[in-house]
Amino acid sequence: MGTCVANPRPLQPIGIFGGTFDPIHFGHLRLAEEMAESLELDHVRFIPTGMPPHRSRPRTGAIHRLEMVRIATANNPRFMVDEREALLPHLSYTADTLRALRAELGEQQSLCLLMGADAFLNLSSWQRWQELFLLSHIVIAHRPGFPQSTWKDAMPEVLRDEIDTRMANPQDLAHCAAGLIVSRAITALDISATHIRETLHAGRNPRYLLPDAVLDYIYTFQLYLPEMP
Ligand code: ATP
Repeated sequence: MGTCVANPRPLQPIGIFGGTFDPIHFGHLRLAEEMAESLELDHVRFIPTGMPPHRSRPRTGAIHRLEMVRIATANNPRFMVDEREALLPHLSYTADTLRALRAELGEQQSLCLLMGADAFLNLSSWQRWQELFLLSHIVIAHRPGFPQSTWKDAMPEVLRDEIDTRMANPQDLAHCAAGLIVSRAITALDISATHIRETLHAGRNPRYLLPDAVLDYIYTFQLYLPEMP
């Protein structure tokens, strides 16, 4: 089992799912649902970013993105929304968020940072990325375009080294608090927030790619309006 200090009292792992969610869509929701189910997570915490430091700034205000996540997750008792990053008036780093969660939830609690394979490929550009392994496990979901068979080829060597030492089985996650990497295939839904924004900008309807209630919110607040000619 990779690098971790065995947990004397295994606790059901908690999933931590950060993203810009600009807007949240069925790709995000299926990832969280399938990870919750297959890894027997106690719950998944959705944490919409404020101003993410490691990618271009989202155009939609954090409060709208937070509200759309609330609407999309409201009916699932295993989903929780954590507003701490969205409400921050400054840049948020995942390492700081995990440190705060670790302080609240205790040293023994197994925490699983959930992310798509595309996000993992950029991990070594994140602020204090090596610290993440002291604070949580990382669980990688293979979304379309990033198949398990080839994604390692595109990976920086430092990340390949982490995979080689930390790769573990899903059942190991509960037995230690942090430090492992698990990778899982999920139902392939080739949906991205970029495509949804582009569809709305073009004056077309992205229904069936995201929950109806989120789309109603988008139209009510006139988010992602069509470009003016
Ligand atoms: P954008 O198109 O604006 O870059 P996105 O759709 O990739 O957005 P993010 O909010 O950036 O969504 O992603 C949050 C997390 O969800 C990331 O870890 C990303 O890899 C994952 N994710 C996004 N879409 C999917 C999908 N269709 N299937 C699996 N994982 C996804």
